[in-house]
Amino acid sequence: MLKSIELSGFKSFAKKSTLSFSSPISGIVGPNGSGKSNTAEAFRFVLGEQSMKALRGKRGPDLIWSGNDRQPKAHRARVALVFDNRRKLLDIDFDEVVVERMVHRDGAHDYTINGSKVRLKDVIELLSSANIGSTGHHIISQGEADRILGASTKERKAMIEEALGLKTFHYKKVESEKKLEKTNENMREAQLQQQELALQRTHLERQVKKVERARALKRQLVEHYTRYITLERLRINSEKRRVTELLNGAEHNVTLARERVTKADAKIETEKDTSALGALDVQTQRLAQEKGVLERRRGKLEGTLSVVTNSTEAQHTNQHIPFVKVEALLVDIEKRIQKAHKDNDTSFLHEVVTSVREFLNQCIPNTKTSKHTDSKEALQKELAEVEESLAALCSEEEALAVARTKTLAALREQKAQQNAYFELKEQLREREREYDVAHHEAQALERAQKLLVDIEHRAQDRGIVYTGQAETISLSKEELQELLSEIDRVEARLDEAGGVDESIIQKYEAVCTQGEFIEKEVRDLEHSQQTLLEILSRLDTEIATRFTEGLTKINIEFEKFFSMLFDGGAAQLDVIKESQSGEDEGIEVRVQLPRKKVTTLEVLSGGERALTSIALIFAMSQVNPPPFIILDETDAALDEANSRRYADMIRALSEKSQLILITHNRQTMEAAGELYGVTMGSDGISKLLSVKFDEAVRVTV
Ligand code: ATP
Ligand code: MG
Repeated sequence: MLKSIELSGFKSFAKKSTLSFSSPISGIVGPNGSGKSNTAEAFRFVLGEQSMKALRGKRGPDLIWSGNDRQPKAHRARVALVFDNRRKLLDIDFDEVVVERMVHRDGAHDYTINGSKVRLKDVIELLSSANIGSTGHHIISQGEADRILGASTKERKAMIEEALGLKTFHYKKVESEKKLEKTNENMREAQLQQQELALQRTHLERQVKKVERARALKRQLVEHYTRYITLERLRINSEKRRVTELLNGAEHNVTLARERVTKADAKIETEKDTSALGALDVQTQRLAQEKGVLERRRGKLEGTLSVVTNSTEAQHTNQHIPFVKVEALLVDIEKRIQKAHKDNDTSFLHEVVTSVREFLNQCIPNTKTSKHTDSKEALQKELAEVEESLAALCSEEEALAVARTKTLAALREQKAQQNAYFELKEQLREREREYDVAHHEAQALERAQKLLVDIEHRAQDRGIVYTGQAETISLSKEELQELLSEIDRVEARLDEAGGVDESIIQKYEAVCTQGEFIEKEVRDLEHSQQTLLEILSRLDTEIATRFTEGLTKINIEFEKFFSMLFDGGAAQLDVIKESQSGEDEGIEVRVQLPRKKVTTLEVLSGGERALTSIALIFAMSQVNPPPFIILDETDAALDEANSRRYADMIRALSEKSQLILITHNRQTMEAAGELYGVTMGSDGISKLLSVKFDEAVRVTV
């Protein structure tokens, strides 16, 4: 299996040195400090050992040739291990596999497999497939043989598991656990997200409902606006025709009525009052008074005359009124008539009568004194005069009656005219009222038109797109008003609902889609969890079964090797529970030395301890034989007799595993098919050379 190992710049191997393995057992011999153990560590190093302590160093550069005055320090240490892979022990399609590791002075490490740069993980995976591990049970460092005895029960169990080749399963288990942990973490995240989304969804659902309500309201609004605008437009248009006609008609009527009134205005005698009739009445009254006075006078005169005539017929007196006086009276009367005419005053007649009476009174005393002479004649004359005056008054009265009749007719005529005029005025007022009504309607229509424009703007501002629709019905003004109120109400509700935010719907849909996505993810994760748990459970079962089976086999071999080495006695590995839960298990070693009452490891002698270790190591190797085993002076503590038994066991072991033995032991050397000597000269550089048995014995023993 192992073909060769090549060291270059590694520890004391300053120069390139190669060890080739052509025999099942190779021995490495040489004096103390020559570099034998360094070769064993070279194996560990190339197989991927991460513990610097296991390599006897502190840092990477400690592994590089440190240099001296003869040979300068190396820049890197390189170890290449060559496998014969014709039997495909390593899971790689090459007959020869070269695994190489380098460490640089800066501490960087490089791994290659057949010259291709790889990660440490790749190396570990490749080697573990062939039951080779870096910290392996198959490399027993110097003084480390009883490490398994000194280890804790738990560590011991791990070592046994590794020897049983369960590391791959553990590796797989760790991987699956990591995956499960990751899956659980993803699950937690997904569930958190799911919760978060559910919250968002509930929250959005409420908003979506609001938006849907708002949408419905908006639809209603569009319908109402469309209906209102269309019908109101129709109404206004038809009203416009009607109102225009009405207004024009009313205007025309007003003009006509006004013209009629204006015409009547011109005709009507506005100040023709009833004073003329009053004056006539006053005159008539005065005439009647005067007439009464004269008639009484006439009666008196007639009485007096009859007395005079009867008693003093003979005593006829003729009384003469002086002409001058009569003349003066006439002049006065004339003046008064003129004045009365001028003042349009008829009262002068009364004054005339009074003047005449005074005149006569002045004359009468004279007549009385000459009663018997003048009275009859005078009385007759006076009577005649009175008669004359009465006649004048009667004719005047007649004239007045005629004038009154005329005036009354005129007044009646005027009254009729006025009535007609008032009638016209009333008509005008009526027409004006009608015009006002029409005008009022026109104004209302104008306001309605303005309102319609406002409503159209309002609709536009609200982003309402309406298309005129053919309406078969028409609504009354009140119904339209009601529709407008309904618009106000719907608008108020829409505003209260917060309008239509379309982005909410998009958000909601996005959240739903995301929710579905997460739900699917959760299902996938659940499936993954399930699968991983099944894998883990299978792995646990596999590990447990293999472990139990392997442990039984180890115990058989352990017992065998132990009794071989101790020439009797017994030894056994027991599984113990480390904790109450029983999850942590450990392995305890129980030994029974022949003829001794020893059961605990602590009381064993150094040699006994070494023998027990060897028995265990060999037993472990037998059950699941590794491709090779490296033992660095495991035989150091053995006496002659045990060295022989050891050599026999080695021979037996070599049938299943290739052995590389670092030894000072003659028996062991004898068992080896080939021997390499390691020397170190004064230059401090380890050198390798193939040696014969005798030579080897000479050099080392
Ligand atoms: P023994 O028989 O006593 O076990 P050995 O042959 O196993 O001896 P090693 O332990 O392999 O000897 O070699 C130790 C030697 O290697 C020491 O002398 C040490 O100085 C040398 N050495 C270790 N690391 C380096 C290094 N980085 N550079 C140079 N020399 C080194
Ligand atoms: Mg050594």
